[in-house]
Amino acid sequence: MKILIIEDELKTGNYLKQGLTEAGFNADLARNGPDGLHLALTAEEPYRLIILDVMLPGIDGWEVLSTLRLAGNQVPVIFLTANSQVDDRVKGLELGADDYLIKPFAFSELLARVRTSLRHANNANEATFLRVGDLELDLLRRRVFRQGKRIELTEKEFSLLVLFMQRQGEVLSSSLIASQVWDMNFDSDTNVIAVAIRRLRSKVDDPYSSKLIHTLRGMGYFLEAPERASE
Ligand code: CA
Repeated sequence: MKILIIEDELKTGNYLKQGLTEAGFNADLARNGPDGLHLALTAEEPYRLIILDVMLPGIDGWEVLSTLRLAGNQVPVIFLTANSQVDDRVKGLELGADDYLIKPFAFSELLARVRTSLRHANNANEATFLRVGDLELDLLRRRVFRQGKRIELTEKEFSLLVLFMQRQGEVLSSSLIASQVWDMNFDSDTNVIAVAIRRLRSKVDDPYSSKLIHTLRGMGYFLEAPERASE
């Protein structure tokens, strides 16, 4: 899960990046406002959270956040500031920050806030964002990622994967898949389904050691993560 840290203080930035990486996140670090904004707006795989320092060279944290929101980017943001003034807090929340942390802070406190923000965002995005293990599918942008790497799928492969992910763990028969994905009856010719699933596997499973798509001989297919991730 990708997190962007925008922080100009060398020590704090490195400390945050290292801590979040050790906690299992994929953290990028930008050291000024313009670089951070550029990363946030152009990342191929969208960031799931931004940790944003207020006092930054170039463009300050307020402006980074308001520019993101103007561009329609609704990524959750946690503000970091050395300033404990109430005015700042109100300003941050008005601009659409989700949370606020005053420096100096304990890393455990930040990590707790990060997890809370991600949980809230996940609930809000449930309908458009599917995840099974390390496989992520963005329904709105029609993009698929595994271990953070983009996977290119055809339209049919994408629809097939959506069906598998929405009904994870459920055994889906060839005829059910045919009716849902091809809008047709393939009772007589399940080879079409077998071929499509083989192609999907070659992209989603073959390059990875753990397999998600499984065959239950004579019954159908199902998609399941080998084991649940702790987060
Ligand atoms: Ca700063």
